[in-house]
Amino acid sequence: MTAPAPAHHPLNATHPLALAPVTGPASSVDGFVRQFLRNLNYERGVPLSASTPNDRYFAFAMTVRDYLMARWLEDLRRQRVVQAKGVCYLSAEYLLGRQLDNNLLASGLTEIATEAMVACGIDIEELRAQEVEPGLGNGGLGRLAACFIDSLATMGVPNIGYGIRYEYGIFRQTFVDGQQVEQPDAWLTLGSPWEFPHPEAARRISFGGHTETYDDAGVTRSRWVPGWDVLAVPYNYMVPGYLNGRVNTLRLWSAKATDSFDLRVFNSGDYEEAVRAQTFAENISKVLYPEDSTPQGKELRLQQQYFFVAASIGDFLEHTLPADFDIHKLPDRVIFQLNDTHPVIGVPELMRVLVDERKLEWDAAWAITQQCFAYTCHTLLPEALEVWSVDLLGRLLPRHLEIIYRINEEFLEAVRERYGDDEMRIRNMSIIGEFPERSVRMAYLATVAGAKVNGVAELHSQLLRDKVLPDFNDFFPGKFTNVTNGITPRRFVRLANPGLSGLITEAIGTGWLTDLERLRELEAYAEDPQFRQAFAEVKAANKRRLGDVLRARDGLEISDGHMLDVMVKRLHEYKRQMLKLLHVVTQYGSIVSGRVAASDVLPRTVIFGAKAAPGYAMAKRIIHLINAVGEVVNTDPRVEGRLKVLFPPNYNVTLAERLIPAADLSEQISLAGKEASGTGNMKFALNGALTIGTDDGANVEIRQLVGDDNFFLFGMSEPEVEALWARGYKPADFYQGDENLRRAMDLIASGAFSGGDRSVFEPIVSNLLYDDRFMVLADYSSYVAAQERVDAAYVDQDAWTRSAILNVARSGFFSSDRSMRDYIERIWHTPPLL
Ligand SMILES: *Cc1c(COP(=O)(O)O)cnc(C)c1O
Repeated sequence: MTAPAPAHHPLNATHPLALAPVTGPASSVDGFVRQFLRNLNYERGVPLSASTPNDRYFAFAMTVRDYLMARWLEDLRRQRVVQAKGVCYLSAEYLLGRQLDNNLLASGLTEIATEAMVACGIDIEELRAQEVEPGLGNGGLGRLAACFIDSLATMGVPNIGYGIRYEYGIFRQTFVDGQQVEQPDAWLTLGSPWEFPHPEAARRISFGGHTETYDDAGVTRSRWVPGWDVLAVPYNYMVPGYLNGRVNTLRLWSAKATDSFDLRVFNSGDYEEAVRAQTFAENISKVLYPEDSTPQGKELRLQQQYFFVAASIGDFLEHTLPADFDIHKLPDRVIFQLNDTHPVIGVPELMRVLVDERKLEWDAAWAITQQCFAYTCHTLLPEALEVWSVDLLGRLLPRHLEIIYRINEEFLEAVRERYGDDEMRIRNMSIIGEFPERSVRMAYLATVAGAKVNGVAELHSQLLRDKVLPDFNDFFPGKFTNVTNGITPRRFVRLANPGLSGLITEAIGTGWLTDLERLRELEAYAEDPQFRQAFAEVKAANKRRLGDVLRARDGLEISDGHMLDVMVKRLHEYKRQMLKLLHVVTQYGSIVSGRVAASDVLPRTVIFGAKAAPGYAMAKRIIHLINAVGEVVNTDPRVEGRLKVLFPPNYNVTLAERLIPAADLSEQISLAGKEASGTGNMKFALNGALTIGTDDGANVEIRQLVGDDNFFLFGMSEPEVEALWARGYKPADFYQGDENLRRAMDLIASGAFSGGDRSVFEPIVSNLLYDDRFMVLADYSSYVAAQERVDAAYVDQDAWTRSAILNVARSGFFSSDRSMRDYIERIWHTPPLL
């Protein structure tokens, strides 16, 4: 560590010259043009006349970046000087979406930049289209992390987001004969103008080997003698707050072979073996596991988890904290928020650093650790609770396994003290599970170590306390809490829906984008016919815009005058895309059998968007069936074009931003008790779609806020689901008892959607008839009845629009700014830095 520069020297962070001026070179149209051309010439090395669209996109992005840079440096300086407590958000996923428009919006440069491109004769849309979205997440969990860091920056709360810079993000989905085919997502092929690599700050991350004890001046200590290591190279990304001059940091780690690997390339005669070893090391950050809701028990995945968490904790302790920092005060400086169980290996890692490296007493280290972590649980599916076999963990991280054993021993001792030798309870609460193999239950470790444990919606938090971890709730009273998820209104309202945003601002003025509860003021406008008219026109324009996108992107056509009925989210049986599809098949069957005249059917276009995990066979078969039904329904002349099924491939953030503002109806139809929260549901409500949904996850809170008149509720409640399981659920009884359902199922089974081949979709049909874990058949009749209420309501367009406005007006609660305030108040205690 070098000595700090004296106060009068520009290298000292408090010296005025330590910073570039905050008004960057880009804050006028002329300035923007000059800086853009400079970047094109000096950073890309091309004149405008010979530049490619990618050159121009890079130069443009760099110009926006330059402008934010002074603010970024200023924030880093301020955080160093003030030494305030900050949030380290540890997440294996960040589903960021495109950066360009968001960064323009945050910096207030949109108009200047647009005019500057006009002045240069450059089509700004062409530049936008160049950006490949970084898809470094699977779905809701990764998108939540992205919304949270946006809100923290906007609120001025010190935060570093830590994660993995996957070379290949979530796969690109294509359809071949209606079946999902995965293509690699090579988002870095053309480079990214938004990242700043810092190879000089690389950290060495170790694995394997063994542990040993040694004598340290009369004290017996343990240490880890690792077997191999890799380098973690940080890449920084700016996370600008909305028009507040604040920029936080997202720091993603990339794996690189250490010198020892490189040396082997030269020294061993075995060149191939040496290169293989290098590839092995760099595989760690190669690809995002395309799983959603179920952990994939792969060694590489545990390597990824430890890799990024060890790098992040080490980085924070050694890079962000001052060199002379008193480690006992760590809880005053940081809270490590664990986004699901993926980063939970950070708990024994911090213990290892404190006990083995900093030589703290175990009890002191444990007291610090327990204050520095908090854990967010994201699931209720038992199969999604991550466990690692003791065998694997001990091989990869032997010292961490020892530490976990000791944490568990002391924890179980305390349990015994409280409850006596209640062996059943002790086995149930042990961090180490014994069946089917000895393994570490990561959610239990996080619960024991975390200062707080939160669920992500009221219902979810309640089920977590009462059903999933009741023994822990009993043992740790007050540890469990709720923070209902939220979404950033900057991206999902302002950027995605400029028409609606303009209308809102016209009505209630500015300020709502950072104080979303102010949308309440729109309630009065729901009664204003002129406002309703304008609102309906915005929706219609958004549909046309979506039509243009789907035509250009996929050759799909949206028909005029159709209700847009949208179900977009990961494909999973618990989310019940099959229920939506059975409704479509029911309507189709009624038309082609002549029971209902096509002209009596309310015109609807049903849009699906969903990726299935590549190894999830049933989910992929459901995708195949959706496409097969679409193929038949869309081309059958008897339907007279009144029912359409569209399934644009590769649902991602960019597509969500176009689809959601155009939707009339939002499908949130998971089996009650299975969806922890959902955030798609919030995006739709805030964009004026009405929800048809179960009483599940955050739907419960959406319905309570928007009111029963503006929400189509159906299906069993969670207690009713439990009661049906207890009675013994026989899906075939529902099939026998409902003629509509029987017809729809029979139509699929008959081969009507598979050219007469009955075998293709037979596994779906028999799964529903004889297993149906997510009770699709039990909720079918209630769902179809609710859809009939939807049809009836949609006929009165003016009343529908009124309800849509009320959905917007009453959904301000679902801003991720509010989620952040709840985390700060209930868990983090990290006030904004003013
Ligand atoms: C919001 C979002 C999700 C989460 O959707 P849910 O309906 O809550 O599952 C998934 N993927 C993308 C691209 C999103 O934007």
